[in-house]
Amino acid sequence: MSKLYDVIILGAGPGGLAAGIYAGRARLNTLIIERAQDGGQIAITNEIENYPGQMLEGESGPSLIERMTKQCEKFGCERVSDNIKEVKLDGPEKILIGANGEYHAKAVIIATGAHSRPIGCKNEGKFRGKGVSYCATCDANFFEDLEVYVVGGGDAAVEEAMYLTKFARKVTIIHRRDQLRAAESIQEKAFKNEKLSFMWNTVVKELDGDGILDTMVVENTKTGEQTTIHADEDDGLFGVFGFIGTVPNTEIFQGVIDMDPRGYIITDEEMHTNLPGVYAVGDVRVKTLRQVVTAAADGAIAATQVERAVSDYTGEAAH
Ligand code: NAP
Repeated sequence: MSKLYDVIILGAGPGGLAAGIYAGRARLNTLIIERAQDGGQIAITNEIENYPGQMLEGESGPSLIERMTKQCEKFGCERVSDNIKEVKLDGPEKILIGANGEYHAKAVIIATGAHSRPIGCKNEGKFRGKGVSYCATCDANFFEDLEVYVVGGGDAAVEEAMYLTKFARKVTIIHRRDQLRAAESIQEKAFKNEKLSFMWNTVVKELDGDGILDTMVVENTKTGEQTTIHADEDDGLFGVFGFIGTVPNTEIFQGVIDMDPRGYIITDEEMHTNLPGVYAVGDVRVKTLRQVVTAAADGAIAATQVERAVSDYTGEAAH
């Protein structure tokens, strides 16, 4: 018979770990399940400068997350590394079935986050890891003194493009409009960066090369004119980084939990989903501001709700 946890938290990004800190501290029997490394998207974020209290020189996503993980340990959260494939969430006892085992709990907090949206151009998959990347922190050093193109115009694209200028010889942001979506403060820094240039009203149509990315076809969104860009002859290759938003990690909850048309989980202000005992926090849920601070706040709220629900838990279905 599997152990019945008070709460299982699925995902160890900022939302899941904040939930773990609050649940563990409330003496709930807590299990955190993560399939990969802790941190979710901020595990691949170079600079975090807007998390309250975050003034440490050189702080990065991974170092912030490391401290959150340690805090969860301190409050007694158990950990399992597993990839959950199936969920049974409608009864009072929630069951999560993974590649390595089955996990049971009175409540579940979904903190599975989101992943990078593909650029959507021809041959993108073929050049993934061979010129195409979605993580500047992971791959910037492969493009030392080379040319790099960044697709997108939001906070992520502009911040990561600035980070890439520390490595690449030249970084060009390709944006589909003539105005960035990124916050003014981020834009100000970007426009001052001499290694950064912009290709406005442009989308990437096709990538090409003989095993390694050296050619790209872009299209002007106003005129429809297509241009082929070739790598500098001495370089022989260039990099393309995609930062055009995210897609929620909700495949296993399709048809189980209410979602919006884009697949984000619908919750109320206290993180309840449509299923009793099931909560969603962070980037995976419908919300207006997806930040570390809002994910952490969601986690705290959900864990506090679980604490109340678990004290009333009878093992009978809620009506
Ligand atoms: P985002 O804000 O949704 O921006 C996505 C960008 O990609 C937009 O400029 C959008 O263009 C463009 N785009 C979307 N689909 C496209 C397509 N098919 N082809 C070409 N371009 C496309 O996404 P994000 O920058 O990843 O940020 C996600 C969330 O994280 C936001 O809430 C953001 O504030 C937050 N974030 C914050 C920070 C920070 O505060 N330091 C850093 C990173 C991320 P349009 O502008 O034309 O729509």
